[in-house]
Amino acid sequence: MTATKIERPDAARPGSSAERIASQMRAFGTGQALSGPEMIAAPLRWPRPSRLREPLDLPAGKLGDGLRTLGLTTVGALLEHLPRDSREARTVAALKSGEQATVAVQVRAIAARSVRRRGMRPLVEATVEDATGSMRATFFNQPWLVQRYPPGTRLLLHGKADARGGFRVSHHAAGPELTIAGASPGGEGPASVATPSESPLGAAASQAAARAQAQAVAHYPAAEGVTSTQILTLVQGNSERLADVTEPLPAIMRVEEHLPDRASALAAMHFARSARDTERGRERLAFEELLLTQLVFLRRRARRREHEGACSLAQSPALSARWLADGLPFELTGDQRRAIEEIDADLGTPRAMQRLLMGEVGSGKTVVALYAMLRAVEHGEQAALMAPTETLAEQHFATIQRLLGSEQLACALLTGSTPARRRADSLSKLASGELSLIVGTHALIEPDIVFRRLAVAVVDEQHRFGVRQRAALHGKGTPHMLHMTATPIPRTLALAGYGDLDTSILRELPRGRQPIETRIVAGERARSRAYDELRRHLQAGRQAYVVCPLIDEEPAAPEQPPAAKGGIGDLRAASAELERLRKGELQGYRLVLLHGGMRPREKQEAMAAFASGEADVLVATTVIEVGIDVANATVMLVENAERFGISQLHQLRGRIGRGEHRASCLLMGPPGSPRLRALAEHSDGFRLAEIDLELRSEGELVGTRQSGLRQFNVAELPADAQLLERARAWGEAIVARDAQLSMPEHALLGDVLQREFGAAALEPIPA
Ligand code: ADP
Ligand code: MG
Repeated sequence: MTATKIERPDAARPGSSAERIASQMRAFGTGQALSGPEMIAAPLRWPRPSRLREPLDLPAGKLGDGLRTLGLTTVGALLEHLPRDSREARTVAALKSGEQATVAVQVRAIAARSVRRRGMRPLVEATVEDATGSMRATFFNQPWLVQRYPPGTRLLLHGKADARGGFRVSHHAAGPELTIAGASPGGEGPASVATPSESPLGAAASQAAARAQAQAVAHYPAAEGVTSTQILTLVQGNSERLADVTEPLPAIMRVEEHLPDRASALAAMHFARSARDTERGRERLAFEELLLTQLVFLRRRARRREHEGACSLAQSPALSARWLADGLPFELTGDQRRAIEEIDADLGTPRAMQRLLMGEVGSGKTVVALYAMLRAVEHGEQAALMAPTETLAEQHFATIQRLLGSEQLACALLTGSTPARRRADSLSKLASGELSLIVGTHALIEPDIVFRRLAVAVVDEQHRFGVRQRAALHGKGTPHMLHMTATPIPRTLALAGYGDLDTSILRELPRGRQPIETRIVAGERARSRAYDELRRHLQAGRQAYVVCPLIDEEPAAPEQPPAAKGGIGDLRAASAELERLRKGELQGYRLVLLHGGMRPREKQEAMAAFASGEADVLVATTVIEVGIDVANATVMLVENAERFGISQLHQLRGRIGRGEHRASCLLMGPPGSPRLRALAEHSDGFRLAEIDLELRSEGELVGTRQSGLRQFNVAELPADAQLLERARAWGEAIVARDAQLSMPEHALLGDVLQREFGAAALEPIPA
């Protein structure tokens, strides 16, 4: 073999640099000098990435349209279009009648056969085989296949086996890349062929052999007009272009991480020879994807740390210290204390804080946030807290006023329903600096809101705001930002989603919190006992929540898509349930309704009635998930609990157990549900978040919506947690040495980053 190896030119050598390099060329392996002709004949290949941008020759009609819809208009896009998974191709012997399957076979004979029925085109029948057997494959309506698939052609067939050893083909593709079980790669034909009479139900031994040799076939997400097999055929037709794929990862990284090069990884995914190869290829691409996102985060953080535009709040605490010492009716938890210290350290510098405060409902985030805000106020600066809904904003406003107690501090509320006069008043006081604390909704980021100097901005339930909204708040004066979330995010996911934020966690719930007993209630007898229990709480003067998945019995907007079994008709609706309970199990008690379809005014009235104890039971949808704080409520009954996600149920449950009384949460649902069992067994939100991740299969990460995490194309979390940690470590090392990615070995990484993330790669606010 005459592949060449270029050694580093030795500066001491005489002659032109070309001559010097040529004289350094050595045969691969032996190191012998190469002659001129040998050098010319050496199979040197230079990738030409520009060829990947060449348009794909799209067929007319449905297939072409489908490919366009998938965005597969260039060779590069096609090669980057990765299969979702691989399906194991069956061997002929392993086919069961009536089963849909894919087989990799070779054509032995092929012929058209006319069909007696008028108007039908001839059938094409082929005898196809692999090492385990042969069978008759039938193609409908495509007489031209006789020419296209002559004997010897390797085929991938998808279709259905029938009882008589036949196979009705629904999709097919020719693939010189295909490995046929038992066939030599040269393709002379199967080594041994079972007779048709032995198939499809061969001996157990040949079935075992068949299973051992079964190969994986890439499976692409289907699209209108395009089958997975058609995509595979196209990829195979363009497989030579994989040579034009460039390698962005520095060589040292690939060596240390034992990663295949990019082109091989793509090939491994498309032409899945074995599950193991495919997985190695996938890991390689996932590593790159994770590394790129970490580089975005880490560069953003590095850049933020360089920028000194924030107000340094470094004077020793006065108001805030007094408030902590005398104003609070309770002791801070250890976690709250730690978070406050971390925030203090951030605020003391002119580099704008970007900190994520994670803590489940009731863990006392507001106290920590208020501390940060008071630090601004005692420096004569301003602070704002933005919440995603009016209800939440109102509650924060009330909590803050309560927490401030005797401190005489002006604090205003600004939402969409703030009357014009009051709004105008607040606006002018914000501009003059007279008003130092403000709580509100999106109303806070409207263009006419001007702060004299906003030093601290808190965003509650930050994932419910868009990037632009958070950036708008940040734009009102480069404040230190504290992002809060009640969704506990396991470390891995936090890295993946918020890799550029510093984090503080409140794990510990404030002391005096009662544990919540959670039980699954299944069946009518258990249900009636559950109502007994609920009434016991009410008789003792406590209050209750009844949560339903629907607002009313219209089949509109269920929280989750209806399960295969049991449609919306089986789901309970809040309004109907209220009527039912009022006349039935909860007769004599005062029930109020709360759901998202009500007018703000009605909602306020319902909540006020429940908060004041005027109402005993709040029958509601998940609108109560966030924001309601009624310490006297000690029991919650959740209908169709299996319809809710783990984190959602955990959030809901956080509405009770907030006072001194024991609380119970009754989940109506199937006893076997792993999610409901997890809730019954665990109260730690972080543990539940981990279980939630483990229980999820591929596809949409339930709760990505809630946690605001981005979806990856190739990487799968939490399965790729280790990969993520390694990508993070490499990212940190690279950014520490070369944040601009200007070193030659990082240039191609920089290119990809620019292409994939564009200008957003350096935006100061997390995407
Ligand atoms: P979060 O915003 O994290 O859901 P909050 O800050 O609203 O939690 O606190 C929930 C409740 O617990 C509030 O009534 C608050 O006054 C109270 N609380 C907060 N911290 C403590 C503490 N360390 N000890 C006792 N109660 C606390
Ligand atoms: Mg809160």
